[in-house]
Amino acid sequence: MPDLLLGQTLTFTDDPFLSGPDAAQHERNGAVLIDGGRIQAVGPAEVLRAQHPQATIHDYGSALISPGFIDAHAHYPQTGIIASWGKRLIDWLDTYTFPEESRFGDPAYAATAAETCLDLMLAQGTTTVCSFCTIHPESVDALFAAAQARGMRVLGGKTCMDRNAPDTLRDTAQAAYDQSKTLLNRWHGVDRLSYVITPRFAPTSTPDQLAALGALWAEHPSALMQTHLSEQHEEIAWVGDLFPQARDYLDVYESFGLLGRNALFGHAIHLTARERARLREVGAALVHCPTSNAFIGSGLFDMAGLKAEGQRVGLATDIGGGSSFSMLRTMAAAYEIGQLGGTALHPAQLWWLATAGSAQALGLGDTIGTLRPGFEADLAIINLASTPAIAQRAARAESFWEALFPTLMMGDDRAITATWVAGKPTRPSLL
Ligand SMILES: [Zn+2]
Repeated sequence: MPDLLLGQTLTFTDDPFLSGPDAAQHERNGAVLIDGGRIQAVGPAEVLRAQHPQATIHDYGSALISPGFIDAHAHYPQTGIIASWGKRLIDWLDTYTFPEESRFGDPAYAATAAETCLDLMLAQGTTTVCSFCTIHPESVDALFAAAQARGMRVLGGKTCMDRNAPDTLRDTAQAAYDQSKTLLNRWHGVDRLSYVITPRFAPTSTPDQLAALGALWAEHPSALMQTHLSEQHEEIAWVGDLFPQARDYLDVYESFGLLGRNALFGHAIHLTARERARLREVGAALVHCPTSNAFIGSGLFDMAGLKAEGQRVGLATDIGGGSSFSMLRTMAAAYEIGQLGGTALHPAQLWWLATAGSAQALGLGDTIGTLRPGFEADLAIINLASTPAIAQRAARAESFWEALFPTLMMGDDRAITATWVAGKPTRPSLL
């Protein structure tokens, strides 16, 4: 039996960074028909109601039916240490992250963290996340099992480190290769899950480990490879010391076979002109993590410049370096960082980044992130008057974008009326 969701609808036919706000399609009295876990039709409510009288109606009134949000870079094992005070990146990793990640060899601990993280994300309207795990294979099994139980499309991988990390969080080049390969064979393409080859970042891998993961990627080129790039100046200087023969940070990855169109580079703030040109040439994806960049004091991502030169860009929370599970809050932070860089990003651009843009960055642009027949039915239903402060502002709006923007800037999980995953409404246990 099909479901027919009624409300305002918003989706994109193109990238609004290229073609402006007209790339967005907004329908005030819209509808989305879902059957078999997929979107079957999108259009005016009266038309779809007439065409599908047998469908079960879910009338969301004036709420917005959006593609579910897509978080293109997160660390689910850091759920428990989100909002830890006062350190620069390297100290923050040593003080908070590594001790917490050391606990994920315990399958029960990993399962609880994965379930908590995914439920928090669903409560925020996020239906897909691409997550780092920990060095422990158990942490990958836990993430994918939790995603499977929720029917979610989730990507992730074992975070490999064989130096500059505590003993409890170090593997070897061979173990990184072997365990990653085993996990990839176990999970990649199963249900809605994708394995991602995951060196944490250049400083925590030996050249041998980077080469081993480059070799694994060459054997499985359709898989994504995720890591971090040029987040903080101290980190970049450290990479220069560790890899003196490399031209720059990106060149370290390239020299070990870890640069390609299926690469995802988190942060990418302090890029050289050569790195930008090479990233553009290869078509790798950059992932902007604005709450994290502000929280850890990393710097200002050049969204306007990078998009203007044709880079592929996604948007992400980067929890627990990021300070919110909410992609609404993340869009607001991206807007604020854009303003500090001299560009006011349009709400259409921000919403695109959190949906279709992140889907494209993850190589899933023809599967999720857009309201279009044939796409998987992952949806966020958003109340555009969820708090008194937002409601009084939205009530004065003279356009859809003006009505949306207060929720984009001030909204949180209170704005999420429902989250649909694979064509089914879900009520996470933490809601
Ligand atoms: Zn990260």
